[in-house]
Amino acid sequence: LDRTAAVSDRVDGDRLWQRLMDLARVGATGQGGVNRQALSDEEIEARALLAKWGREFGLVTLNDPASNFFLRLPGIDEALPPVLVGSHLDSQPTGGKFDGALGVLAALEVTEALRSTGVQPRRSIEVVAWMNEEGSRFAPGMMGSAAFVGARKLEDIRAITDSAGVTVGAALDRVLRAEPDVRTRPLGLTPTAFLELHIEQGPILEAQHKIIGVVSGIQGKRTFRVRIDGQENHAGTSPRSARRDALVAAVNVLNALHSAMWDREDVVRFTVGMFTVSPNVPSVIPARVTFSIDLRHPDDVALRRLGDAVPDMCRAASVPCEASVTELLYDPPLQFSPGVRAMLGSISSELHIPWMEIPSGAGHDARHLHFVCPTGMIFIPCKDGISHDEAESVLKEHAVDGTRVLAEAVLGFSEGNGQKRA
Ligand SMILES: [Zn+2]
Repeated sequence: LDRTAAVSDRVDGDRLWQRLMDLARVGATGQGGVNRQALSDEEIEARALLAKWGREFGLVTLNDPASNFFLRLPGIDEALPPVLVGSHLDSQPTGGKFDGALGVLAALEVTEALRSTGVQPRRSIEVVAWMNEEGSRFAPGMMGSAAFVGARKLEDIRAITDSAGVTVGAALDRVLRAEPDVRTRPLGLTPTAFLELHIEQGPILEAQHKIIGVVSGIQGKRTFRVRIDGQENHAGTSPRSARRDALVAAVNVLNALHSAMWDREDVVRFTVGMFTVSPNVPSVIPARVTFSIDLRHPDDVALRRLGDAVPDMCRAASVPCEASVTELLYDPPLQFSPGVRAMLGSISSELHIPWMEIPSGAGHDARHLHFVCPTGMIFIPCKDGISHDEAESVLKEHAVDGTRVLAEAVLGFSEGNGQKRA
């Protein structure tokens, strides 16, 4: 179609870049990054800015009971389910300008580029900003997309609290109240397709001199909470033989786990990122240690084998203390539809943009959408592979190329030319 050739040419790189910089002022930090926590005042402000930009060229604003935010470009046939395209507006406490924001603003640019062609798309197209992708204020992340597809019950999500004791429910109601002019649509919509543009958050594209990464899939992830119970006692009077030191046991457990997770190929991703000692005072033998485990692997058989071994390893290595292990999350690895991947690859080739297939080490909202509709992701390089950092940076021309590929893919799905789920 000629009109598909036109839409990527209508992508306005200056407009996209200016909006990225304007949005980065909302929650700006000292070192050039952003701090825009989920459901915060800063996020409310970011959503209002997005709404203002969208309304200027006729997009309709919507939200839902999970506080996901949508901007709708109405299609010719409004009875057909919309094509969703977007990412998230929340950030880590010391996040960058592009993680999430790029995917949302590229989606906005796609709708404006389409609008400027003067041709109305067949299906409606909706820019989406999912609620709480990062999971830093409220854990775990990807809450809005989980509620949207029904992977988690909204009432369970609403009960989760942040470190100050504020529930998701209270924070979410506050955001919705701040948007009285936005219509709230019920959950339960099944989109035609979902597409997400995101920075790679890794060094591969840059090293391979590619601009587009067609994401092949997302590696699996299991998380655990481990508690080691020992016996609190006096540091000066308790002989070694009588001690049940929870910290010593925890260190033994960590060593055992690290050796068990070691693989020659360097594929296993094993992290203990949170560790607390109690009572945590100098002259008392530690009575309790709690720590987190984040375990990831692209192969489900390996992920199952390694994860299933965690409880026994913790118990065996913690003697004479006692270990209790709770699994918090198990997201199996997934492969995006070969049809959608082929479509994104051929669009990149037609636009003469160097591309490759690439797996995603990080989780994204696309994980949840994958199980309900044809879903694809596009990565662009970020400088030195750095993200979740104020120094996060991308080249403007890469952002533009990613948006051009996104525009063609969105239009393809809107017109019904998109590949069906394989
Ligand atoms: Zn992100």
